[in-house]
Amino acid sequence: MRKLSEKDKELIKEAKKVARKFSKVKWEGQRLSTVGAALRTKDGKIYSGPDICHPQSGSSSICAEFTALSKAYSEGHTEIDSIVAYCYVNEKVKKILSPCGICREFLRLFGNPWIILDTKKKAKLNEIHLFSDNWK
Ligand SMILES: [Zn+2]
Repeated sequence: MRKLSEKDKELIKEAKKVARKFSKVKWEGQRLSTVGAALRTKDGKIYSGPDICHPQSGSSSICAEFTALSKAYSEGHTEIDSIVAYCYVNEKVKKILSPCGICREFLRLFGNPWIILDTKKKAKLNEIHLFSDNWK
């Protein structure tokens, strides 16, 4: 675990901005997004995006991390330095989220990034991943 840098705090701000923006999007009266993710690539570019939560089908939903990673990957980036996900329901209900198991597995494809865990600390993916001892 390590303390956050100013660059990490910038990522948190970006993730929160995305989460707030997309929390207003509705489909048939139901909210589609409550989480924004922001990542920094190894060469310093920032990509971000929201989750897209199908109100009637969890398996048809994607986490915000997938949106941000897909954007970075489609622009040619395959190594991530750090990532954060921020849940915004309203001004009283908001917080940084730790990536789910599927996201942790997917993140392995992009190196061993820093995962911002809360407003004070971060950890390397292999420190929080269940099967990190299977890594090369
Ligand atoms: Zn996830």
